[in-house]
Amino acid sequence: MQITEIYKSIQGESTYAGLPCIFVRLTGCNLRCSWCDSEYTFSGGHRMTVEEIVGEVEQLSPSGLVEITGGEPMLQEREAVPLMQRLLDEGYSVLLETSGERPLEQVPKGVVKIVDVKCPHSGEPNTFRAENLETLDSTDEVKFVVSDRTDYEFAREFVTRHELARRVNAVLFSPAFGKDANGARDASHCLLDPRELAEWMLADNVPARLGLQLHKFIWDPALKSV
Ligand code: SF4
Repeated sequence: MQITEIYKSIQGESTYAGLPCIFVRLTGCNLRCSWCDSEYTFSGGHRMTVEEIVGEVEQLSPSGLVEITGGEPMLQEREAVPLMQRLLDEGYSVLLETSGERPLEQVPKGVVKIVDVKCPHSGEPNTFRAENLETLDSTDEVKFVVSDRTDYEFAREFVTRHELARRVNAVLFSPAFGKDANGARDASHCLLDPRELAEWMLADNVPARLGLQLHKFIWDPALKSV
């Protein structure tokens, strides 16, 4: 399969935020979100077999948390599914970060799916595959990246309409990050003030968790592999 990078860092998002995690970042994405911070995965990368990937993960850590991410990892479903199963069999806790646009029925049981629903101002609205709702269980998480009030109201209504809080372990609302003229995208580049988002969530009693991307507060935003 085509791999952009494999590295160890601190998980920056989801209910696993703050934990050490190995990231297996697959190459390629069929979407083009306006606030994407992973454009470097759109092309390039190098071929690796499942065996080679598992070997590299084991060298970084013999146990713990592994996230399969991208790009969009489910574009390489034929090899990504056996990779996830193999990591589960080796005793790792496995997270899958996905855009929500690809079918998720084949994701092995035991993998925690962290599924985006793209908001109206993401640049990729209406890409969520509705059938994926039926694949979600009580270990999974659903994430909305919110850039303004329109995105927030879309997310709030989606959560209510689909009773997401009842279906999954966590619903995550995260402010989107923009880039400055130099391409930098650190904690000062939130498109939506986290305080404002927090106040909207509190006012509406939204059953969701406010998420900030920890790695953007810790490391130089120009760094990859963090
Ligand atoms: S789905 Fe993810 S990797 Fe693809 S463009 Fe959107 S944010 Fe970037």
